[in-house]
Amino acid sequence: MLVTRKTGFLQKGYMIEVFKGLFITMKHFFFSKKVTIQFPEERREYSNRFRGLHYIKAVNGVENCTACMLCPTVCPAECIHIVAGERDDKEKYPVKFEIDVLRCCFCGMCEEACPKDAIKLSNIYEMSIRERRVYDKDFLVEQRGSK
Ligand code: SF4
Ligand code: SF4
Repeated sequence: MLVTRKTGFLQKGYMIEVFKGLFITMKHFFFSKKVTIQFPEERREYSNRFRGLHYIKAVNGVENCTACMLCPTVCPAECIHIVAGERDDKEKYPVKFEIDVLRCCFCGMCEEACPKDAIKLSNIYEMSIRERRVYDKDFLVEQRGSK
């Protein structure tokens, strides 16, 4: 059986649906709250609990870290690599301290585990892994004042 449906002029040209769509677009354009910002001119405020770029605390240019190896042990991503050395006063220190940021999941466990409060995560979120994939000790110490 052949079923035919009567369509008027507006339905044939899909005009009602076109105007409905336009109305919804205009409504959102003029009356909805904007969810985007003009980055980098505008920046969002993040919580103090935000975990971003790592840094190592240092006093008078000497890092707090004693190369105790707790942070690489707890790190679930196994992205911290430390080579320990000994100073003249028999204190241990990291000769090499690297974080492979491409593997890091920013869980903050290294910060929590550190007994010397040496490794921290700042609230900086602008990190380009194209420029720097591995954070070495010098870079991590340089970031200490940036929180
Ligand atoms: S934040 Fe987590 S994954 Fe990243 S280095 Fe620290 S412990 Fe490892
Ligand atoms: S940063 Fe802290 S936990 Fe990691 S090796 Fe140094 S002292 Fe130990």
